[in-house]
Amino acid sequence: MIPYELYHLLQCPTCGARDLVVTDAGVHCASCQNDYPRHDGYLDLMPRAVEFSYVSKYVTEEEELSEELDYRDLAPPLLAAGVRNRALVRMLGLQPGDIALDNGCGTAKFAAWNADKVRLMVGSDPATLFADAAVEQVALAKADSRCLPFADNSFDKAFSLDVLEHFPRDVIDSYLSETARVLRPGGRFFVMSNTSDPSSLQPLTDASRKLGRLLVRAGLYDFQREARRKSDHIKALRTWQDVLDAMQQAGLRPVRIVFWNSVFTSFVEHVLMKLGEVVLGRMNDKRRTMKEQADENVHHSSFIAPRSEGTHREIRARQRMRGRLERRGPAFYALTAVTLLMELDLWLFGALKSGSYCIVVEKTASETWRP
Ligand SMILES: [Zn+2]
Repeated sequence: MIPYELYHLLQCPTCGARDLVVTDAGVHCASCQNDYPRHDGYLDLMPRAVEFSYVSKYVTEEEELSEELDYRDLAPPLLAAGVRNRALVRMLGLQPGDIALDNGCGTAKFAAWNADKVRLMVGSDPATLFADAAVEQVALAKADSRCLPFADNSFDKAFSLDVLEHFPRDVIDSYLSETARVLRPGGRFFVMSNTSDPSSLQPLTDASRKLGRLLVRAGLYDFQREARRKSDHIKALRTWQDVLDAMQQAGLRPVRIVFWNSVFTSFVEHVLMKLGEVVLGRMNDKRRTMKEQADENVHHSSFIAPRSEGTHREIRARQRMRGRLERRGPAFYALTAVTLLMELDLWLFGALKSGSYCIVVEKTASETWRP
């Protein structure tokens, strides 16, 4: 959605001017004369005539990934996404009066899940693979995090989940300094990402992985889709110290830190859930008609790269599961229980350093001073 309040926050992403004019077609910059069109549910606020050396895979392969990511329907926040969302809510403390930014929102699921907790929820991403529920509830902008289209000190809160690990270091630095710029002094920023730091509980995690791999060898499922999702992880912030240094450089002071050693999580993801997906996918396979199969073959014949049978099965299992979850039946409560089991990792091992981390940082007052 594009609520009127969003226009009050904007500045030109190309020249930084604030004299923007709202037009029938979108927004016009009176200073550099660029136009930013309004689309169905979002504003296109990408900087004009700027060439970046780094472009996310989600932008360059948007069309192909839109097929694979299965992004339009939003399930309730459960499993790993549920743990993330609960950590976000608990650690960031969104308030009813807040203006909040999901910086690099992707489908904007985290923004959509929490939109009713704040005055205005804004989602920003260069790719426009927004979930339907996000288009309904979140103020969405197609934007580049290196030149955010928002004025200084616009937001009370900001958050970033699974973003930093995709960027090279120079992009991380611009991303953090831009986030700090648009946060008000004292404003807080929640980040969840991962470094290459080892966890002392790694042997426990590995045991689940090994069990998972045995299942792969038995042909029960494959990890192709998961590997693809992680295929552009760079982890330019290699160690925890790198994270702290980058935050400090951007004028962001750590307030709270919780590590995510995936002991329970790994068991759930690599063993429990995968088995569940296989079972549900197979049940679904039997029920599919010949016609559906024929349609699918035609659909995937030409320009879209063929997905593996494992990926098909996983997506089908997910779609089926979503239907059940909507109805808040036994599956919903079972998965809620599993989500809480995974969350034990944060409660029990949150102080033990590991690669995955959640951090809340605060914009220090001195950052508002500009030469
Ligand atoms: Zn301009």
